[in-house]
Amino acid sequence: GPAPEADTEARQWLARHKGEFGHFINGAFVASASGKTFETNEPATGKLLAKIALGGAKDVDDAVAAARKAQAAWAKLPGHARARHLYALARVIQRHARLIAVVEAIDNGKPIRETRDIDVPLAARHFYHHAGWAQLQETEFADQVPVGVVGQVIPWNFPFLMLAWKVAPALALGNTVILKPAEFTPLTALLFAELAAAAGLPAGVLNVVTGEGETGALIVEHADIDKIAFTGSTEVGRLIRERTAGTGKSLTLELGGKSPFIVFDDADIDGAVEGVVDAIWFNQGQVCCAGSRILVQEGVAPLFYERLKRRMQTLRVGHPLDKAIDMAAIVAPVQLQRIEDLVAKGVSEGAALHQPKIELPQGGSFYPPTLLTGVQPTSIVATEEIFGPVVVSMTFRTPEEAIQLANHTRYGLAASVWSETIGLALHVAAKLAAGVVWVNATNLFDASAGFGGKRESGFGREGGREGCYEYLKPKAWAGRKPRPAA
Ligand code: NAD
Repeated sequence: GPAPEADTEARQWLARHKGEFGHFINGAFVASASGKTFETNEPATGKLLAKIALGGAKDVDDAVAAARKAQAAWAKLPGHARARHLYALARVIQRHARLIAVVEAIDNGKPIRETRDIDVPLAARHFYHHAGWAQLQETEFADQVPVGVVGQVIPWNFPFLMLAWKVAPALALGNTVILKPAEFTPLTALLFAELAAAAGLPAGVLNVVTGEGETGALIVEHADIDKIAFTGSTEVGRLIRERTAGTGKSLTLELGGKSPFIVFDDADIDGAVEGVVDAIWFNQGQVCCAGSRILVQEGVAPLFYERLKRRMQTLRVGHPLDKAIDMAAIVAPVQLQRIEDLVAKGVSEGAALHQPKIELPQGGSFYPPTLLTGVQPTSIVATEEIFGPVVVSMTFRTPEEAIQLANHTRYGLAASVWSETIGLALHVAAKLAAGVVWVNATNLFDASAGFGGKRESGFGREGGREGCYEYLKPKAWAGRKPRPAA
């Protein structure tokens, strides 16, 4: 069962703030000008976790003014001085890793094993990596200047890791930030802002404004913001693209996906089955690059399904703070409802439903690992992103058919290919429309490799050298030498 003492430090942190948080603007917590708040709940129990300031126009104005004021001095620092701040942020994450991991697990509902071993260490790695780029800024990006003041709007599925992906490169390269976390999961951003200030980050460099979609829209439309970086749904991404068209704002979008997971006859079947577990049941499938469409070659399909179903039966769904579980809660009742509705549609369209006979905890938002087989390529469950622990599966005969099915999507974020014939795997990988292809692997991320999509999965990259360019603008210099004095 859950370890009751495990969250003491997190509860103390919440208690210290009396369960209520303002925005973090210009180095301090401030209530909304309107006095309005909203609630963030614990997905595993449905209980209230904290009251959060609901950002309005005045709050966004104040945050932008603070970021604008801080930006000149921040950009003027030599790269090595900004690098020192980024190293300090990386270390502060490591020092408070347990607290951040617990807060993230209770606010999002994801397993502590994941926040402890993946979200938080990868976030720290992101700050270390970008400290390196800050250090090298003058030599590596000599003809580039910071974009300026950046508005960053992030989703709820990896609240802390998405913060790191956005904040680390922006700050490293001399920009200042107004960050809006998702309404379901604002806590780790507020915790980080507090820790960053205590670690010496100058006031105004990182501002957190909390709120719902309307608050995000106020950031997107603010006249004194130079760039918007957004991760979230394709619908909202499209809206933001429309709203920023005709302004001078730069824009990057990291949106949804329906990534194929292709299993050839000669694949290592047990490896591929474990791959599926990671591809679609990690983070309850609430992963933009989740391998949510299995394409399995006909010859191996019966064996593959048999092994996959057997493995599903061993997955444990439980409380986020229980270290022995594989899956925990869905982020919110509204998301759970969306998953249930889509699965019902899939079944009504003729798919066969496979769910293990396992116990789900009571009281919160939980959904079992789910496999839909016999799915038509044009059906809703095969084309729409479900964003839950539901994988659909289809069979194919030839590599050409696999490529065609894989690319039959409006998205293009990730893909995974399983075959022991490396020539075949690489041939197929080269033809897949995706920002990243994993071979005999899935969900591999590193701060040094630019992550991003094509088509309706968005544009822009996060991580690595290419991610740095998203926070820089080229600037050409020309002229002549002053004449020598007469
Ligand atoms: P969402 O688009 O509803 O919300 C994302 C963020 O945008 C939230 O902070 C929300 O408050 C804000 N927002 C909502 N309406 C807005 C508006 N009109 N203007 C400005 N901001 C607005 O998405 P979500 O439900 O939070 O996240 C799930 C989606 O995110 C999935 O589709 C998933 O694939 C995608 N995602 C993509 C990536 C990626 O890197 N490509 C990563 C994680 C999640």
